[in-house]
Amino acid sequence: MNKNSYCEKFYRKLGLQTEAEKELAHEFLLANLLGQVNGDRKNCIYLSDEEKTQNKPTTMQAFATTKKLELSVVLSWYECLTSNFNLSHMKSICTQERANGFGSAKNFYEWYINEPLYCYYCGVCEEELEKIYFNDTNQQYKEARQRGKTLEIERIKTAPQKDNVYNQENCALSCYVCNNAKSDFISAEDFKPIAEGIKEFWENQRKKQNQK
Ligand SMILES: [Zn+2]
Repeated sequence: MNKNSYCEKFYRKLGLQTEAEKELAHEFLLANLLGQVNGDRKNCIYLSDEEKTQNKPTTMQAFATTKKLELSVVLSWYECLTSNFNLSHMKSICTQERANGFGSAKNFYEWYINEPLYCYYCGVCEEELEKIYFNDTNQQYKEARQRGKTLEIERIKTAPQKDNVYNQENCALSCYVCNNAKSDFISAEDFKPIAEGIKEFWENQRKKQNQK
């Protein structure tokens, strides 16, 4: 299963080879996450927190010109991004508390899009969550709340209160099952045997899926 970060996934989908190209695509991905991509703002992105605060977005054309790219290239990146990623979900996870904890929304996303996509506790890959469990063929899940298809932002240390913060050192990606089970009253250390059990749970789900 693929543990690549969102960034690496994006580069692969675009078929990018050189570091220079990847750097531009990285900037573009970040700008889209910081921006609004709805309605008439569809072609607007934010290149910095300042642009976002002042509500003065950059247009795709301006991005293309500044980065010496063809507009058609930038638009094809946008197309790739919206068809392969759940942008609205990704945009919704940067709460004010998280942005503050990381120093800025940009810092938060910089971390988020570079994190390998597997659960810090049990190791399940984001790519397989929907495939092996969180889908409509699963009666147990179908009727329940629609959470679980993506990895969640987890604070590793939750006590004492002063350590219960969002920042690069204290955050990890976690599956819904681990996040929910650990909640905020079990330490990461004490959670290890439970995570082993959850690992086994996923292994059983994988087997069931393969038998279908
Ligand atoms: Zn997990």
